[in-house]
Amino acid sequence: MPAPRITVVGSYATGLTLKVKRLPSPGETVLASGYRVDYGGKGSNQAVGCARLGAQVAFVARIGRDNFGEMALQLYREEHIDTTYVQHTADHPTGVGFILVESSGNNCIALDPGANETLSANDVAGCNTAFVNSAVMLTQLEIPVEAAEAALSIGRARGLITILNPAPVRPLPPSVLQMVDVLTPNQTEAKVLTGRDVKEEADVEAMARELIHSGVRKVVMTLGEKGALVVTSSSSVHIPAMHVKAVDTTGAGDAFNAGLATALACGESLHEAVAFAVIIGAMAVMKEGVIPSLPGRKEVLNFCHEHQLRPPNWLQPRDQEQAYGA
Ligand code: ADP
Repeated sequence: MPAPRITVVGSYATGLTLKVKRLPSPGETVLASGYRVDYGGKGSNQAVGCARLGAQVAFVARIGRDNFGEMALQLYREEHIDTTYVQHTADHPTGVGFILVESSGNNCIALDPGANETLSANDVAGCNTAFVNSAVMLTQLEIPVEAAEAALSIGRARGLITILNPAPVRPLPPSVLQMVDVLTPNQTEAKVLTGRDVKEEADVEAMARELIHSGVRKVVMTLGEKGALVVTSSSSVHIPAMHVKAVDTTGAGDAFNAGLATALACGESLHEAVAFAVIIGAMAVMKEGVIPSLPGRKEVLNFCHEHQLRPPNWLQPRDQEQAYGA
């Protein structure tokens, strides 16, 4: 089976982290340690997640003409992601986040979206060929809503399965929701999208129903260590999370969305795809960091074997790989 193709339209940002004993007050300088530079951005993370699971990924994004942008391109080359549609913005830096982490675990973050903010609807329309032969279009909200809207519109017009991971969340008009085949909010995001303050478990499904009423075809609500709820106009199914030892839950949503998109691109039903995404989400929380915790196909096969799960057929090594021992 040839590798499925997925178009990801989204963000890239470099994360610069420092550890401090306590967060500085205004005007104060504190000593820090543990300086780290990490790849970030939900679009980029999800693109890498899909590529590691065996998809051919075309990534539509904007970066600056600077070292951090070059670092992102190097990552995409290593992960075999098609960079044809990663455009340079001359007058904006690559997106960057400054993160201070206190020894108590508290943190504070300042984010400059930089070039991400300049990704326009026209840019996305100009990358029309990125959508050709793709099965799935996956986007998020770390880019202007108009860019995500254009991605959904082109994806829908070309018959791709459109997935919107509505993070970071903001209220969306029905005109945008109507172009979404699968919406993947977590509970907090669903609350903002519906304007509801949910307290009871039963209300979670009601929120998903409201989103379907607003025009979304299907909702996959992620529930952290409780798994995910799959709601369509005619059904609601809870898929529990895997029991694993969570080390770092950052990026669980990115891993989950990558698993979901890849399984759907391989022709799985929505329920099978969510069952697969739950495995990828669980694997991601078992390791520190986001990019280092996104699993590759071999790791997923081993994990399935260890947990006596039947891996999907499309995850098996492809013919030429077996022949060449790749
Ligand atoms: P986000 O990171 O976007 O807030 P969630 O926290 O809901 O998303 O996590 C996404 C998915 O990752 C969940 O639906 C679940 O399948 C998996 N996951 C998250 N946390 C855990 C955990 N502690 N144990 C096992 N799986 C988890």
